[in-house]
Amino acid sequence: MTYKSIKGTKDLLPSESWKWQWVEGKIRDVMLVFNFREIRTPVFEETPLFSRSIGELTDIVSKEMYSFQDRSGDSLSLRPEMTASVVRAYIQHSLGEQFPLVKVYYIGPMFRQERPQAGRLRQFHQFGAEAIGAQNPTLDVEMIALAIAVYEALGLKKTALRINSVGCENCRPAYKELLKQSLWKVRDELSLDSQRRLESNPLRVLDSKAEEDQRAIVGIPLLRDHLCADCLAHINGVIDGLKDLGISYEEDGRLVRGLDYYTKTAFEIISKDLGAQDALTGGGRYDLLTEELGGKRTPGIGFAAGMERLMTVLEKQKLIPDGDKRITLFIAALGREAQRWAMKQALELRRRGLSVELDFLDRSLKSQMREADRLQARYVMIVGENEMMNRTVTVKTMETGEQKSVAFADVTSFVDTSGND
Ligand code: AMP
Repeated sequence: MTYKSIKGTKDLLPSESWKWQWVEGKIRDVMLVFNFREIRTPVFEETPLFSRSIGELTDIVSKEMYSFQDRSGDSLSLRPEMTASVVRAYIQHSLGEQFPLVKVYYIGPMFRQERPQAGRLRQFHQFGAEAIGAQNPTLDVEMIALAIAVYEALGLKKTALRINSVGCENCRPAYKELLKQSLWKVRDELSLDSQRRLESNPLRVLDSKAEEDQRAIVGIPLLRDHLCADCLAHINGVIDGLKDLGISYEEDGRLVRGLDYYTKTAFEIISKDLGAQDALTGGGRYDLLTEELGGKRTPGIGFAAGMERLMTVLEKQKLIPDGDKRITLFIAALGREAQRWAMKQALELRRRGLSVELDFLDRSLKSQMREADRLQARYVMIVGENEMMNRTVTVKTMETGEQKSVAFADVTSFVDTSGND
């Protein structure tokens, strides 16, 4: 019996993980300069947290959530996204009382039982940020600027920002009715998925990728023409702010988000180097969510960005630098005594921050040298019976082939001054 990873999940092997670490480092640097601090919440939560916030009728909750009963009979779910967890933590720990504006970011795995296809995984990773406590459109601009700054720091090209307003509890219900009426008129031309959504979640019909839907909804009324004065002023404020920062954007009246809790600003950053699943980042404002989850009404805005898709684009655009995976020193030891000396010496040098490897497989000198080559060690130290007797080692500088005899007592300073360069 052998086992395989579950469909839609991926192992991140050492040959790849350093790339993720590099990208994550860049993300953390940018988050810090924007004064966002990391939050880590559990990967599972009570199921109602997600069904309540994301919405019972959304695809995520109705079809994709990994929900299960634990042994005490409680319904738990693996998180399909982070905003609900962040808002739960915000309320639970009264963060709003400590900080008037809470700015947090996260990087971590999310879980959705989607049909596996290119760009869609069942365990995928997102980085994202949430800012809770302000209604001002400048905060929307800050979030968009933050997402773009991350991509800029990574050198990403060919991205585009789309922006829209999805209204609020004052203007959206009437528009939804109007939309439903208009969609009923073209119902037969819509895809089956959209026909199903027509009653439950008509806004989602607008951003359907199916060609027949796109054809059918030409000329359908858009929310931006039916926004209340407050929502209109807000989106105009956001757009002014984007202009001030020289951020180019495209207004997309059909952009909606798959989650119920969004209000006002919705945005997406896409990459022209991705296929059908071209969204790198999705975000928006959620002014009602805190209250919906039992807290005080507090406006907030956030975004989430797919890591796997980002990695795909970074690879495509050749933006990941060659990682320096070389080790500094390989100690080739022959015989029990030499191995014991090598272990001690390695530990001492490692404590000084040098990367050191040695042989654990009782290999011959020749095959240890081959291993040192494979690891691209800068230096190889050879210790055999003779060396143990003379209390010296032979140190070979791999690049030049030069060999030197160094006394045991001088080994540390010899390698130290040569360094981890
Ligand atoms: P969402 O939470 O659905 O708005 O997704 C935000 C971002 O996460 C998307 O723009 C994608 O980059 C990424 N994403 C969402 N679902 C998946 C998935 N199943 N597999 C890989 N990436 C995903």
